[in-house]
Amino acid sequence: MDLKSGNPWWVLKNGLQQDYPKLSHSLTNQDVVIIGSGISGALTAHALCTAGFKCTIVDRRIASSGSTWANTGHINYELDSSMNSLLKRYPEEFCIDVFKACKDAVYSLQQVLADTGVDCAINPCPSLYIAADKKGLRDIEEECITRNNAGFALELLNDSQLLLEYGIVAKGATRHYDSAQIDPYKAATGILDYHVKAGNLTIYTRTHIEKLEHENGKVILTTDDGLTINAKHVVCAAGYEAGMFLPKKVMQLTSSFAFVSEPLDDKLRLGGRPVGLGHCAALFLPKQYR
Ligand SMILES: Cc1cc2nc3c(=O)[nH]c(=O)nc-3n(C[C@H](O)[C@H](O)[C@H](O)COP(=O)(O)OP(=O)(O)OC[C@H]3O[C@@H](n4cnc5c(N)ncnc54)[C@H](O)[C@@H]3O)c2cc1C
Repeated sequence: MDLKSGNPWWVLKNGLQQDYPKLSHSLTNQDVVIIGSGISGALTAHALCTAGFKCTIVDRRIASSGSTWANTGHINYELDSSMNSLLKRYPEEFCIDVFKACKDAVYSLQQVLADTGVDCAINPCPSLYIAADKKGLRDIEEECITRNNAGFALELLNDSQLLLEYGIVAKGATRHYDSAQIDPYKAATGILDYHVKAGNLTIYTRTHIEKLEHENGKVILTTDDGLTINAKHVVCAAGYEAGMFLPKKVMQLTSSFAFVSEPLDDKLRLGGRPVGLGHCAALFLPKQYR
């Protein structure tokens, strides 16, 4: 069975969206240039254009076709680190503020999409964090207490509740409702399109920035075609490839996957709901399987 398709699900589901021309001449006197047209570049452009700046986006691929069109579209306030693990490194007030800011962002994103009239099939849905083993169960039990005490609504599901409600076999899980799923590709391209039409944003795709230099308080970007872009400010929203703009190597890219299944047949559902958190899931596979 070939499990790899290389086709981003959102493009198959909702179709290819708007793209833009390749840069064909050098640019001078740019206010703000944003490298990257993924969801980070789109939201940066939204904030800056709304504040009255003229922005230019350059992207080496077609619009929003980096990890934004490959991702699962799970909008969740939880970080990769639990609140308890953050508390080991930072003051309590700071940790709570970080989680609150992330939770607010879930709702701000919905507001941005409403303000720009982007229909990207936003679907509010609960988020599960599953404990695979006994230690994981202890961790999520402690996390639940900490987060409840900090004012976050988080509930604990035991193994039988998890099996009954979701058909998932695991030690337990936490569940909250401050989350959603969207088509991230349609969200990013929709926000970009809104500002291009409003006249505050120009986009050049298939334009690869190879070099970033500073000179007399300006930034000079050079493309792989030898064209230059001279700007007052540059925002790097280059996603997993942003490392090339840092002075030293801080990361090594391996790979990650998202898989999508057909909706499961009723007979295969153990509880009343489909197995999984919807029909998409991101898998971060151990090294031997990559
Ligand atoms: C399989 C998978 C599943 C994921 N699932 C989720 C999820 O469910 N929820 C979630 O929040 N996050 C998820 N993520 C993380 C997700 O990728 C980010 O949340 C988000 O899409 C990143 O957007 P971005 O705009 O920062 O980066 P990207 O979408 O990668 O955009 C960066 C852009 O910069 C451009 N670029 C890079 N270098 C250059 C250059 N030198 N010159 C010009 N352009 C350049 C790229 O072409 C690209 O379009 C997932 C990631 C993967 C890989």
